[in-house]
Amino acid sequence: MQDLRVNKERLWDSLMEIAQFGATEKGGCNRLAGTDLDKQARDLFVSWCKTAGCEITIDKIGNIFARRPGKNNDLPAVGTGSHLDTQPTGGKFDGVFGVLAGVEVLRTLHENKIETPTAMEFSVWTNEEGSRFQPAMQGSGVYAGRFDLETELNKTDVDGIRLGDELKRIGYLGDAEPGSRNVGAFFETHIEQGPILEDADKAIGIVRLGQGIRWYNIEIIGQESHSGTTPMYLRKDAMVASAEIISEIENIAHRHENGLGTVGFMQVYPNSRNTIPGNIKFSADLRNPKPDVLLAMHEELTAFCQSVADKRGLEINLDPFWYFAPVEFNASDDVKAATEKLGYSHMDIYAGAGHDACYMADLVPAGMIFTPCEGGISHNEVEYSSPEQCEAGANVLLHTMLEASHRLASVQ
Ligand SMILES: [Zn+2]
Repeated sequence: MQDLRVNKERLWDSLMEIAQFGATEKGGCNRLAGTDLDKQARDLFVSWCKTAGCEITIDKIGNIFARRPGKNNDLPAVGTGSHLDTQPTGGKFDGVFGVLAGVEVLRTLHENKIETPTAMEFSVWTNEEGSRFQPAMQGSGVYAGRFDLETELNKTDVDGIRLGDELKRIGYLGDAEPGSRNVGAFFETHIEQGPILEDADKAIGIVRLGQGIRWYNIEIIGQESHSGTTPMYLRKDAMVASAEIISEIENIAHRHENGLGTVGFMQVYPNSRNTIPGNIKFSADLRNPKPDVLLAMHEELTAFCQSVADKRGLEINLDPFWYFAPVEFNASDDVKAATEKLGYSHMDIYAGAGHDACYMADLVPAGMIFTPCEGGISHNEVEYSSPEQCEAGANVLLHTMLEASHRLASVQ
């Protein structure tokens, strides 16, 4: 068992096979949640897992669970998984690598006919990216009880199409109750999506903390009027109000240690060259690994929006629709033990992005395994990890899951 290793070529070939679904010209993937492309990737995952002896369950928010029986199937299983959906200009590795590292662990156990002490479970979580439907990590969030099932199924995309209808259409609206899997530990392998591991020349990042996130929808209601006939002192210009708020978001991030602030989405109405904009909607994303600092950032943004509304005499609606508390990964020592046993270089790291494992950490001891990606670039079509880097992450996942399975069995 100590000598057991994953198959590097098979893992790589599977990554490239899934990457064909939604392949973009620049070498990335555009595979949004609930689309036909999402279905094709899910179908291939399901068929691979069935071939390797798994039983498939789909829950009411479309999460997929492939269970490989162990010696004692009454005991809680060891779980792993990630997501198959991508950003519109996403890469081949974000999420998909975590799912396929799981499939590679499964195949390695299957071909070596290894009976693990507990069952092993391999999952795909619905809409992790939050690109087509909001918020992000929707499937794992419903599973962990953070979000209401019906509310999320009723969420619509920009064309008004319901998530629930799309899941039904592609054959992934299941009947299992979210939260009902008998799992005792959960691990997720993921590319780092940042430059730290590559810079430090480490093969594995042992994730100790997950960053807290606050998401906002901001709407500014001013007044449309003619750009040639309306004097400056009589304007209610939603664009300049937005500009002030956006630069304050940058200031807020700079004022706090490890603070991050981003505005990445904007809709301008009527979006015409010679009309003063009367209505602007934009997003804001604030992050910090410490809950009290993130709260201070939130309060500063709220107060600033109010001050701009008062000063300019227009209406500003700030909707803080999503809060994701910072996470502690309590099973990271299992990851560390496996990494050291395998002799890979490693360091502790915190997760800057949200991940499905962050919600699973609400329910069971969880851990994350990070691997480097070239230049730290992610959410980009050129996102790249080498076959060797992927192999190392999958080997650590394999031995982490074996470690955890033995631990869960010996506790009983
Ligand atoms: Zn991801």
